[in-house]
Amino acid sequence: MQISIRNVKKHFEGTQALNDVSIDVPDGELVALLGPSGCGKTTLLRIIAGLETPDSGEVLFGETDSTSLAVRDRGVGFVFQHYALFKHMTVRENIGFSLKIQKRPKEEVQQRVDELLNLIQLNGIGNRFPSQLSGGQKQRVALARALAARPHVMLLDEPFGALDAQVRQDLRRWLRNLHDELKMTSVFVTHDQDEAFEVADRVVIMNKGRVEQIGSPEEIFHHPANGFVMHFLGNVNIFHSRLEHGQGSPDLDLVHPGHAPADSGATAVYVRPHELTLYRTRESANAIEGRIAHIRTIGLSVRVSLATAAGPEIQVEVPKEEFQALGLSKGDTAYAVAKGVKVFTDDYTI
Ligand code: ATP
Repeated sequence: MQISIRNVKKHFEGTQALNDVSIDVPDGELVALLGPSGCGKTTLLRIIAGLETPDSGEVLFGETDSTSLAVRDRGVGFVFQHYALFKHMTVRENIGFSLKIQKRPKEEVQQRVDELLNLIQLNGIGNRFPSQLSGGQKQRVALARALAARPHVMLLDEPFGALDAQVRQDLRRWLRNLHDELKMTSVFVTHDQDEAFEVADRVVIMNKGRVEQIGSPEEIFHHPANGFVMHFLGNVNIFHSRLEHGQGSPDLDLVHPGHAPADSGATAVYVRPHELTLYRTRESANAIEGRIAHIRTIGLSVRVSLATAAGPEIQVEVPKEEFQALGLSKGDTAYAVAKGVKVFTDDYTI
């Protein structure tokens, strides 16, 4: 079931929560809505679900305009961050709840609940109550409950937000496999970049009620559309500068010809730590000189913080062997040279 969101706007007193949002979620894809707190992710998910009505714009399920369709007629399943299981019902009763409401025959409900317990790998604990489950188990039950009525579309709002890191990691993979197995179309909200990049086919980066970029995780990482996306992804050195007719100001000779936009104005140059090479001596005119303030080994890489005279510390990441060959220590002077930079006009705020 393809979902098309067309020019959706929504405001709450004084806040433009969504400002002309258009997104296509192709049939069978798992799409993540990613962005800082308050950017409109949950509002958009609730509009797709039918829990909120847009001020203008349309939501299409397949070819059908579903903007004013009631929640129960949309064929969507939801999972929220807080499990919201019925405390007084067993796992089996929770999973079968929606089918019972639909007054489906008892045998059909039993059979579907068995199937789903099997799917979420919790066969042995159908008669337990939610208070007797771990957080990860509760969230799997919440997912099974949402799947009971065979939705075409699954909507998940920070489904693993309340869980610890290891359980989160396991459930992400599990969700991805389940999505593929059931051939659903899924949209999930997260503010966790790793989660979005690991699980989703496509990521929608939102900011202040607008879409900044839509693309595969690779596209977004390697070709961020603008400074907001670059900044939001984090782990990047940022140099603020001014461009005059495509030339960086003299203190910023990092701006390589060809990278700079032709315009003049406030500009930010972004360099990721692994896109800097470290030297003992000044090998080129555009090397940044600094004193080594910290050295941290992270797996096979070494992260070096260089304190520069002009600005904030610069983070450089080099392969461990390369760093060892340089023979540098804390307090030594070193030089960083950029292999790749991205330049965007400096006209956004997070
Ligand atoms: P978070 O990651 O913090 O959950 P979000 O990206 O999901 O944030 P939304 O919950 O969609 O953001 O909120 C978008 C904006 O709309 C925020 O400024 C929020 O305060 C506002 N908002 C959302 N729901 C309501 C409401 N019912 N009444 C008033 N303002 C609202």
